[in-house]
Amino acid sequence: MEKTTAVLLDSRVEAFLQGGPKKLFIGGEFVESLSGRTFETVNPATGEAIITVYEADKEDVDRAVEAADRAYRDAWSKVTPSERGKMLWKLADLIEEHAEALAQLETLDNGKPIQETRHADIPLAIDHFRYYAGWATKIHGEVIDNSAGTSLFTYTRREPVGIVGQIIPWNFPLLMATWKLGAALATGNVVILKSAEQTPLSAIYLAELIQEAGFPEGVVNIITGYGPTAGAAIVQHSRIRKVAFTGSTEVGKTIMQQASGNLKRVSLELGGKSPNIIFPDADFSKAIPGALMGIFFNQGQVCCAGSRLFVHKKVFDNVLSDMTSYAAQLKQGPGLDESTQIGPLVSNEQFTRVSDYLQKGMEEGANPLTGGKPVEGNGYFIPPTIFAGVEDYMSIAREEIFGPVVAAMPFDDEEQIADIIRRANDSEYGLAAGVWTTDVRKAHKVAHALEAGTVWVNCYNALDAAVPFGGYKQSGFGREMGSYALELYTQVKSIWVNLD
Ligand code: NAD
Repeated sequence: MEKTTAVLLDSRVEAFLQGGPKKLFIGGEFVESLSGRTFETVNPATGEAIITVYEADKEDVDRAVEAADRAYRDAWSKVTPSERGKMLWKLADLIEEHAEALAQLETLDNGKPIQETRHADIPLAIDHFRYYAGWATKIHGEVIDNSAGTSLFTYTRREPVGIVGQIIPWNFPLLMATWKLGAALATGNVVILKSAEQTPLSAIYLAELIQEAGFPEGVVNIITGYGPTAGAAIVQHSRIRKVAFTGSTEVGKTIMQQASGNLKRVSLELGGKSPNIIFPDADFSKAIPGALMGIFFNQGQVCCAGSRLFVHKKVFDNVLSDMTSYAAQLKQGPGLDESTQIGPLVSNEQFTRVSDYLQKGMEEGANPLTGGKPVEGNGYFIPPTIFAGVEDYMSIAREEIFGPVVAAMPFDDEEQIADIIRRANDSEYGLAAGVWTTDVRKAHKVAHALEAGTVWVNCYNALDAAVPFGGYKQSGFGREMGSYALELYTQVKSIWVNLD
């Protein structure tokens, strides 16, 4: 008999999934949506509903803005930076205490392998809040002493923006909420965050921990609902001063237009079609697993996925043959199975979208070395797919697929590098890129020439709360993480004092 490796559900997850629809978190309380409408969230491994969730709409956003406004004036602006930092640290501690429950819930809702949730999403979320807890006491302006011969004294203050709207996607639901909340709260803002409709559960669980961490009511409001309704209401709200969005480039463009009503500040983390370049002098023991992880991590549903793989023609066949045999052996199954290495895609919509790209790739003349056909049966499974015979102009080489599908292409100018850089940069996107070589000079030269917000040399998908992340070109603007994210959530005031 085959040994079962199914994860035993944590009692906290079972308790969380008891009872009626999950509620919105507004003004420190869990409340029903004013319309009373709900929607289902689905387990992508089976296609079955997990639980229903209240659907927020414009009037719920209005209510959240009222609560946030009150919290900003009456409570949050009176909390010292040190206290703010302490709450963020406490929240990190609570996530750590609830790590297994959060990992399971995330996997149940999103489909990602539990090993990834436990070892990537959750630890990164904990680190992120701890990192920004440290920043809370280090937000300050400067004295500009340009006053010799005058009686004028000037200094600056870094003040919060006020009420901030944040809209996140489904691929790293908890981590994206964390990236948004950390810097905003450390700098003293109040927040209305909308989770993605496909994956609302970990954000609601996080709301319970936010309540327990002692944030004053209304400082963080978390709503669940759809983009064109609740999302658009955030973007258009005249009392929300800034919107931070992570999602598709297409929706990013709409958001920029709609945020112009009250000239909101906008920061956008959008799509990508990142080049991953393997030179013939690479250390292949690192480059091959790196290229595989670069595209198959989180089923390829990663904005910075290395989905355009450029391999030097001298080593192309060997690299592709090793990658193909490894990819074909990856164990695909439900995320809540300890042995799963690649899970289902998040939704039926995403499954159809990626299936269409598989079809299109073949119609355009590319050749799948492994994978290439959606898995039949329940759940939204697409096998790891490596396409060879790809040309730069094909849609699978140009458009973001957001699935476990890599377009592999040879290149041949080892010495000049100009041609491979031109090809790598020939994209409307510019989120990330990878370079694999043992020549340190080439590594830096290529890294400098690539049009991307992040370049990984001899590694891929590395992330740290201290290191900024964001896009060039149509991958967006503004940087999350590190000290750079503080810029998004503060505004500078110059103060002139006449000392006479
Ligand atoms: P999406 O843009 O459709 O949705 C993202 C979020 O925006 C969801 O919460 C959704 O409800 C909301 N939304 C949709 N329409 C809206 C509107 N008109 N107004 C306001 N909000 C709206 O994207 P998706 O399909 O859910 O996510 C996948 C995409 O996100 C991919 O293209 C991927 O590259 C991108 N992404 C980028 C990053 C990054 O850091 N750059 C990270 C994750 C995902």
